[in-house]
Amino acid sequence: MIASQGPIPVSDYMALANAHYYATRDPLGAAGDFTTAPEISQMFGELIGLALADVWARAGRPEGVLYLELGPGRGTLAADALRAMRAAGLEPAVHFVETSPALRAAQAERVPIAAWHDDLSTLPEDGPILAVANEFFDALPVRQLVATAAGWRERLVTLDGDRFAPVAGPPVPSTAIPDRVRAAPPGTVLETSPASLAYVRRLADRINMQGGAALIVDYGHDLPCAGETLQAVRMHEYADPWIEPGEADLTAHVDFKSLGSAAAGAGLRVHGPAAQGPWLARLGIDARAEALTRAAPGRREEVAAAMDRLVSPEQMGRLFRVLGLSAPAWPAPEGFS
Ligand code: SAH
Repeated sequence: MIASQGPIPVSDYMALANAHYYATRDPLGAAGDFTTAPEISQMFGELIGLALADVWARAGRPEGVLYLELGPGRGTLAADALRAMRAAGLEPAVHFVETSPALRAAQAERVPIAAWHDDLSTLPEDGPILAVANEFFDALPVRQLVATAAGWRERLVTLDGDRFAPVAGPPVPSTAIPDRVRAAPPGTVLETSPASLAYVRRLADRINMQGGAALIVDYGHDLPCAGETLQAVRMHEYADPWIEPGEADLTAHVDFKSLGSAAAGAGLRVHGPAAQGPWLARLGIDARAEALTRAAPGRREEVAAAMDRLVSPEQMGRLFRVLGLSAPAWPAPEGFS
């Protein structure tokens, strides 16, 4: 594409690279490229399932609920959440938004009753929605703008020998740049994710119309800020995002402030974001770890190590955040102090 048409926006590069990456492999786990919270411990999915079942119970136990997950990976989170929900008396229909054939196959093994969608447009329009997205939004494309001596430019990707490289492209009107960063020194990069905002708006419109709540978990920042966060991960190591696109996982930090504003603009109530560690603690991860250990004393160390990875600030407890959304007439999800 670049050879024939010229440089392409960073967002197109990221979208094309990730579409190929996810379509051609199961990237999760020790033998893959990265590990996620539900793959570390069943406690993660169980607490998410219980948080959603609790909202549903306080909403008066409506019929016809849809469990919706965006980018369910191997289906592990869903399997754990659905088991916990069942114990709480909730048995929702299951809908997955997933574009990767490889991961759809993995999901079908763990959750055979699921229905699959390419996007939200085919999701049934009746029934309240209980939605989950873990490490989904970080995989959606970001647009990059770069400051130059001649003003802000859209960042494009070009081909430099056999290596791709970012270059400054056409000028962007300064009105598109937030006041705080407009005067930043040349080289400063600003990321936005129009694809993420469009996604959360569509999700929020549905929840507003059908009722329900959503939990969005990812790594990122509370406020939009200047700086480049686009990164590549391969075999559990950072890699160069401009080499071998489609062979490494490309992600960027999630801008929770903008996601929350988009959902609020669509009429939802916004809760948090809360740091993952304190959020899991408020939902009772200690009690769940204790119960697992009582049932299987031989697993004490494994359970403690998994809890430490999910909760401690040096591990996933601080960088990862949880954003709650709820329909106006629905109760607030627990865990947001
Ligand atoms: N939630 C899982 C997997 C996270 S990896 C976990 O926590 O383990 C990102 C997931 O999002 C994968 O399932 C990937 O195939 C999916 N995905 C990425 N981009 C997507 C898109 N544009 N539409 C639908 N699914 C997408």
